[in-house]
Amino acid sequence: MSFNNDLANLLFPHISGTPEELEQRYPSRELKEGARVTRFAPSPTGYLHIGGLFGALVDVMTARASGGKAYLRIEDTDKKREIDDGVSAIIEGFDAFDLHFDEGVTGFGTESGEYGPYTQSLRKEIYQTVAKSLVEKGLAYPCFCTADELSALREQQETDGALIRGYFGKYARCRDLSYDEIKANIDAGKPWVLRLRSDGDENKRIVFDDMIRGKIEMPENIIDEVLLKSDGIPTYHFAHVCDDHLMRTTHVIRGEEWISSVPKHIALFKACGYKVPKYAHTPQVMKIDEETGDKRKLSKRKDPEAAVGYFVEDGYPSESVLEYLMTLINSNFEDWRKANPKADIWSFPFNLKKMSASGCLFDLVKLNDISKNIICVMSAEEVYSLCVKWAEKYDGQLHALLTADEAFSKGILNIDREVPKPRKDIAKWSDIKDYISYFFDELYVPCFDLPERVSHEDAAAILRAYIEKYDDADDKDTWFAKIKELCEPFGYTPNVKEYKKNPDAFKGHVGDISTVIRLAVTGRTNTPDLYEIMKLMGREKVVARMKKYTD
Ligand code: GLU
Repeated sequence: MSFNNDLANLLFPHISGTPEELEQRYPSRELKEGARVTRFAPSPTGYLHIGGLFGALVDVMTARASGGKAYLRIEDTDKKREIDDGVSAIIEGFDAFDLHFDEGVTGFGTESGEYGPYTQSLRKEIYQTVAKSLVEKGLAYPCFCTADELSALREQQETDGALIRGYFGKYARCRDLSYDEIKANIDAGKPWVLRLRSDGDENKRIVFDDMIRGKIEMPENIIDEVLLKSDGIPTYHFAHVCDDHLMRTTHVIRGEEWISSVPKHIALFKACGYKVPKYAHTPQVMKIDEETGDKRKLSKRKDPEAAVGYFVEDGYPSESVLEYLMTLINSNFEDWRKANPKADIWSFPFNLKKMSASGCLFDLVKLNDISKNIICVMSAEEVYSLCVKWAEKYDGQLHALLTADEAFSKGILNIDREVPKPRKDIAKWSDIKDYISYFFDELYVPCFDLPERVSHEDAAAILRAYIEKYDDADDKDTWFAKIKELCEPFGYTPNVKEYKKNPDAFKGHVGDISTVIRLAVTGRTNTPDLYEIMKLMGREKVVARMKKYTD
């Protein structure tokens, strides 16, 4: 037996499978020409980042637009970063936004699809099978260097002024150990990692075509990268290569922080004899720092909106968040939306090539605008049911108020809705409490800060006179006529234009009279249609509220 085979058996005595068997177990996918297979591959670190939702949307869009498949793979090889039940946090994050993968992990310990297991910690044998074959081909070797030895190596490279740092060439002490030396180390129980035996040339460059960024050229990898750590678990790099090949990923779409690793990945794909997939490196989701005014990455520590849970807890409809992310993902999305106001986002002709390569700015103000536009065209029925569902979990008081009298609540939500120009007050379900507050004595906050032009005496007298006239059976025209009638006796004009022409001739205009009534009834100067509000509140409450200010 040759050195390589002996070494492979020494290192991996328990592995009997072959890469050929893996090829058979995970055959090429039978998909139509041009279909793209993508994956979202998070580490279960406890929450889903908004950048993760953004990336996953790109994955699913890419797959769906081409008749392909998107799957969810859990990358849990870094046990230090993992937290308990981190998988559920990710799955729940996606569920909240109705974003579904075609295959992969579906929950804690569950999955669907033919290319699994989709959790890296369950694929140890697969990685070791590929690793063993690399040893057999002389393309990988065990390294016994200790942490101290590696730091001595770094110091040495510093002293030498080496331009490239890392484990390679003359610095790679374990590269040429004999079989006997290796065996002695293993018999002595020395821990080892498996390294690639790089054949890279520092004078050569690799070029790859990033789907978002175009051609990227970088020096070829010459480092003897670690493939398996001392516990036999693969590094991200090796797992990426084995998994994306065997799961038949055609397009690796991932964050731009991985661009610098591409030369390593290309070297590994080649060593394994696998076809290199297409790469697309997405930009980071950024924000403008409130203190410095600079663009920076959204951080979980500083920005609550970095976690998708923030949007769920605040009550943004999932549709709004996805719609907003689409505007960040493809610059032509907004034009498409204008031309197709009612279309499902999934019918958008998504194109990876139209993604911007520079970091995209996450702008809550724009999200709110988009969400208001989405909510304002929902029916009262829909707003009611979505808000009740949200409140059930996040706001017990609101839930109780909304469900106490369903017809009344829907009536409130229906004011100024289903009209040609619906009001855009609500961006998220948590806005609704304030929006409807004055209908409920528990929430109503009285405020009678009158406009400058109206004295307290006048306001009290106006309300007294109005109570006499007010009839809740009046139609809207009669209701408004009665407000106008109040103007002249108090020195106001029913005609706003007339007031503007000749402001000194009047104390104010009809708007001031209705503001007095609006303030007394709702505690606000700006509300939806006052006639509808008063009708829904009913005479008793309306009069009681006004009476508070009649003295
Ligand atoms: N598990 C990697 C991460 O959390 C994913 C990178 C990739 O998509 O390949 O960043």
